Amino acid sequence: MFKEIIKKIEEFDTIIVHRHMRPDGDCIGSQAGLVQALRNTYPNKKIYSVGDDIPEYLGFIGLSDEVSDDIYKEALVIVVDTSIKERIYDDRWQNAAFLIKIDHHDDSHPFREENYLEFIDAGSAACSAIIARLIESSDVLKMNKEASLALYTGIITDTGRFLYRGVDKTLMNAAANLLSYDIDTEYMFAKLNLKEMNTYRLEAYVYKNMKMTKSGVVYMFFTKKIMKKFGVSCDEAAALVNTMASIKGSMIWVTFVDYGDNIRVRLRSRYVAVNEVARSYRGGGHLQASGATIYNKKEMKAILNDLDSLHASFKQANKELE
Ligand code: AMP
Repeated sequence: MFKEIIKKIEEFDTIIVHRHMRPDGDCIGSQAGLVQALRNTYPNKKIYSVGDDIPEYLGFIGLSDEVSDDIYKEALVIVVDTSIKERIYDDRWQNAAFLIKIDHHDDSHPFREENYLEFIDAGSAACSAIIARLIESSDVLKMNKEASLALYTGIITDTGRFLYRGVDKTLMNAAANLLSYDIDTEYMFAKLNLKEMNTYRLEAYVYKNMKMTKSGVVYMFFTKKIMKKFGVSCDEAAALVNTMASIKGSMIWVTFVDYGDNIRVRLRSRYVAVNEVARSYRGGGHLQASGATIYNKKEMKAILNDLDSLHASFKQANKELE
């Protein structure tokens, strides 16, 4: 499949790379890594990166270009790290002459039937690792320092710094190859890890105030009032989901963040698959890292009930796990 993707890339003079809404490190890393490598390989092609909602902490790798509507009809559009078409940032992908999807989600669905190719490796812990393999395995595409920094950042963030399930030899080999391009990892980790003092104070608040369901699902609701009190943005609060990650007996943890017009739900777990529950609340994602969108407290109660039942039956069936 990599060969077919390269063949299409060679065919088109205009290539536009899209990705999902609310981008994370792997999403921005996959997009910027691919765009940088394409620009490095084809100085005469027009290559664009779509989306101006790059979170501040990823500003050191993210790329965002103005793209006029009229060029789509002659363009190859590549969508990275996105499982369902409703989540693609910017609807203009639909006007592409040819469309390619490169993804690593378990619940990936085809975007369309014609003039379309997809490569999905749900076994890859990061989409950036797939892009790195695509570039490294080709005789045509040329990696450079900028592309490797973006892709390495994507791998680092989506694996929780090489911590999560799915970190394997293939992924480590891809990461090792990227390191041969002289990435400044100290700079990268500073960009990823440094937080404002306010965020640490809110983290302390989470430790003190997180709540627990009957079976041990832990959760935190970041209301507008709390975020205002601590002077943190919705994205900064959402980033605290893993503050609750390592509590014995609590294999599912969740944050709810009031974004104003909706409540963003971030679901995380060890061992237990939570993506089915996410799917019931306008969401989806990976087995152990999913997201959903809800609109009121009633739905919050309902999703917590569902997670509590799931957690209780999982514990019942897996007494050795905690
Ligand atoms: P997040 O908690 O936003 O980091 O999301 C975790 C994973 O779930 C990511 O891979 C997202 O792409 C996916 N995800 C988040 N929200 C949704 C949604 N509304 N629909 C489908 N997938 C989602």
